[in-house]
Parts: sequence; structure tokens; C-alpha cells
Amino acid sequence: MERTELIASLKEILGEENVLASEMDLTLYGYDASLEKGRPDAVVLPGSTEEVSRIVGLAYREKIPVIARGSGTNLSGGTVPVRGGIVVHLSRMNRVLEIDIPNRTVTVEPGVLTLDLQNLLLKKGLQYAPDPASQKVSTLGGNFGENSGGPHCLKYGVTTNHVLGAEVVIYDGTVVWIGGKCPDHAGYDITGLLVGSEGTLGMATKIMLRIIPAPEAVKTMLAIYDSIEDAGNTVSAIIAEGIVPATLEMMDNLVIKAVEESVHAGYPMDAAAVLIIELDGMADGMERQAEKIFDICKRHRVREVRLAKSDAERAELWAGRKGAFGAVARLRPSYLVCDGTVPRTKLPEVLGKVIQVGKKYELPIGNVFHAGDGNLHPLILFDERNREELSRVHKAATEILKICADVGGTISGEHGIGTEKLKEMSFIFSESDIDFMRDLKNAFDPVDIWNPGKVVPARQAATA
Ligand SMILES: Cc1cc2nc3c(=O)[nH]c(=O)nc-3n(C[C@H](O)[C@H](O)[C@H](O)COP(=O)(O)OP(=O)(O)OC[C@H]3O[C@@H](n4cnc5c(N)ncnc54)[C@H](O)[C@@H]3O)c2cc1C
Repeated sequence: MERTELIASLKEILGEENVLASEMDLTLYGYDASLEKGRPDAVVLPGSTEEVSRIVGLAYREKIPVIARGSGTNLSGGTVPVRGGIVVHLSRMNRVLEIDIPNRTVTVEPGVLTLDLQNLLLKKGLQYAPDPASQKVSTLGGNFGENSGGPHCLKYGVTTNHVLGAEVVIYDGTVVWIGGKCPDHAGYDITGLLVGSEGTLGMATKIMLRIIPAPEAVKTMLAIYDSIEDAGNTVSAIIAEGIVPATLEMMDNLVIKAVEESVHAGYPMDAAAVLIIELDGMADGMERQAEKIFDICKRHRVREVRLAKSDAERAELWAGRKGAFGAVARLRPSYLVCDGTVPRTKLPEVLGKVIQVGKKYELPIGNVFHAGDGNLHPLILFDERNREELSRVHKAATEILKICADVGGTISGEHGIGTEKLKEMSFIFSESDIDFMRDLKNAFDPVDIWNPGKVVPARQAATA
């Protein structure tokens, strides 16, 4: 189908105003928060499941790629139209459809922003737990696509643990429901399969999520260290003691300095590392847990533990953590986040190796990450315009992911594979594992139009 014909057909489905095809629009939708670039043939803004279904039906008949897009904040190239096609921007589908308090579920359209839902629920004393640091702008559809994590996922689990069901548009435009309000479901766990599939198997048009009561009490501490190793050892010691805080987030000196210079969160500029440790739950017994944590920190040579004394102080500590990527972005024109995960006892060893990789490739690397989950985020700083530097960045990132894989970890904790980590898939999967994924993708997407070029490496690229 010619591009002009495609655009005319899309306008018939969606109306003139909901189809974008100018040079500027196509350029703007050609990238996301990763380093990857592409160019769609058209961008559409559907307002209903029916419209999504008609767009997908057309794409299926004409064999045109379809790429679901929330806010485009993913860090792995997940929304980049690498083979052109139709970008389906779901921002107009942004209604909260039902809050069912007795069954503790909420049903939303995919374009609802994560924090908007959380703020709405909080007013009713309820909580949707997964809290990616991008929650102010990320959508629940994007969280579904990436199986996003966040600081609170240490205690509460990642997105997949909170998705109960979804309405999904599948390969030819058919609309199906998977999962639902019952705690268990007969048949295949298709919900589990779709969450984290990065828009390669279908597009969620309604998502049913688990909600829980908001915690009665919260205690937030900042533990300050002169050695990154001591901070790392504290993390596994806290968990080994049988305490599961709501969050255990770590930042190293490079990130602390960047945050202080932009967000002014009150972190000490000379610290080697800080941990944000937050407890939540029943007020009863929380003081005892906090004391235990103080003791563990002391055993690991903490310099100081500061307790947030008010909501304002707590917000300040979190503003630093949640603004960390943005703060680091001021240091150099570009950054690449490596999203490797390791068993948490390996954190000190792996952090040491990450520092060595930075030295080897002469690249500044900052660390800000979900330490409790062993989910590292080494941020490699560079200038994308310098091709030689960019090539060192890619080598360093691959080496860091290999280090993670070699200690029994994995290549993505939450940011997905997208296009960025295709060749690193061989670090954790055998060729037959990957072949099985290809077969699976083929069953869901027989004409290869669903976000092609993502997650599953093409046969020749499967070995790094
Ligand atoms: C500063 C910053 C901080 C971040 N912090 C975190 C963090 O703490 N934890 C974390 O996990 N991530 C984090 N991220 C990454 C990113 O924000 C998350 O992956 C987020 O879930 C993406 O949401 P989005 O709406 O931007 O999705 P998009 O980037 O638009 O899409 C993400 C993927 O989901 C697919 N998708 C979108 N909508 C649907 C749908 N309806 N059905 C099926 N597939 C769909 C897309 O095709 C794509 O593959 C961060 C990013 C930035 C820039």
C-alpha cells in the first residue's frame, strides 16, 4: 500500500485530526529515551479499542508494522519504528474505568499516567505499588509493555505481580480478554506472557490492576557511607536479617554530586554512596525495625543515618532519587543506562568491576539503582556526536552486562530488551531458548508486524 493511501485509510478510521504525518511529527516519533532512531510512516492517536482494532486489522492486511507507544520514556528502543510503520500513540485512551474496592482492582485505559492513578488511589487510602522513577510521565500501558519496576518493587513486586488481566488487540485486530478479577485462571497464563513483551505480541487497550491499602506508616532514612562496598554489603545484610524494607535505593558519589547541583536534596557531596531506606506498613513494630536497620548500618561503618522527620523532608530525599537521571543528564550531552541485575550479595563485587570498565574505556560512570533488587543502573556519560566515544560506550555497556550475566545475573531488570540488548540475549539464553521465543512470537504475530526488530534477535544476530 502506498503511503498516501495508508494515511487516507487511517484518516477514515480516526478522523483527520488523529493522524499525524508531517515531517516534524515523523521525526518526533522516531525516537524514545534510548539512543536508537527510526522513522514511522504515520502516527495515530486512537480514542477507543474499536479504533485500535481497525488500525491493527488494516496493518495486518497490508503487512505494515504497528508500534504501541505510551510516553516513549523506555530506555531500550522499544518504541522506535526501526522498520517504519504505524506508531499507535495511546495518550488519548487515558480514562480510569473502574475502581472496585471490595475486589481490590482498578481498570484503566493504557494511556493513564502511573502517578495520576497513584494520586487518585491515595485519596481513597489505596495504593498501586509499582513506582518507576519515571512515574510522573510513564503510562500504565508502557509499564505493562516493559514489566516496569521501581523503588517499591523490592517489597511489592514488579508490574507483572500487579496485572490481573487485560483487554488486548491481537494480531489481526481481534479483541480478546485475558485474566480477570478471580485470583486464579484456568488455561494458559497469557497475562504473564504479555506483560513485559514490549508490544511484540499484542496491544493492551484496558488493563486490570491489583490495588492494596496505602500503608499506615512510613519511615524514610538516608544512610551515608564513605565506601561503596560498605553500602553494598549493608543491602544484603538488611535482607539477610529478615527485614524487607519498601525500598533500598543506592547512589554513588558521581550521582550524589549531580543531584545536589540540580535538585538540592541535602545529600552530602563528599559521601562515596548513600542508601535511601524506607520502611512502610503498620506503625506498630516499625520503630523496632528501624533500630535494627540502624544497627546493621553501624556494623557496616555507616558515617551517619538521617531520618526524615516530616513529609517535606521525605519528599526532598525522594526528589533527589527520582530526579537523578535528569540531574546526571546535565553533566554530558548523552547517557546510556545499563540495566543489569545481579544476586544482591554480588553487588559490591560487580560495582567494583563496573568502576574498572569505566577506567578501561575512559568513560565516566555513575550508579543510581534499585540496590535491594540487585538491579544496577550504571549510567555511562558521553557525547553522542563523538562517534569514537559512542563506540567505546557500546563496548563498555556490553562488558557490564556480561559481568552481570557471569555472576548469575541478567541483562535487564526492568528497562526491557528493545533493540538495545538484542545481541546480549546470547549471554543468558541458548540458541534453542531463543528459537523457542521466535516460535512463540510467530504464533502471536504470523506476519511479523508487531513491533518488529525488538526483543528476539534475528537469527544471524543471536550470537554476540
Ligand atoms: C528518567 C527515567 C527514569 C526511569 N525509571 C524507571 C524505573 O525506575 N523503573 C522502570 O522500570 N523503568 C524506568 N524507566 C523506563 C521507562 O520509563 C519505563 O519503561 C516505562 O514503563 C515506560 O512507559 P512509557 O509510557 O513511556 O512507555 P513507552 O516507552 O511508550 O513504551 C514502552 C514499551 O511498551 C510497549 N507498549 C506501550 N503501550 C503498550 C500497550 N498498551 N500494550 C502493549 N505494549 C505497549 C511499547 O511498544 C514499548 O515496547 C525510566 C525512564 C526514564 C527516562
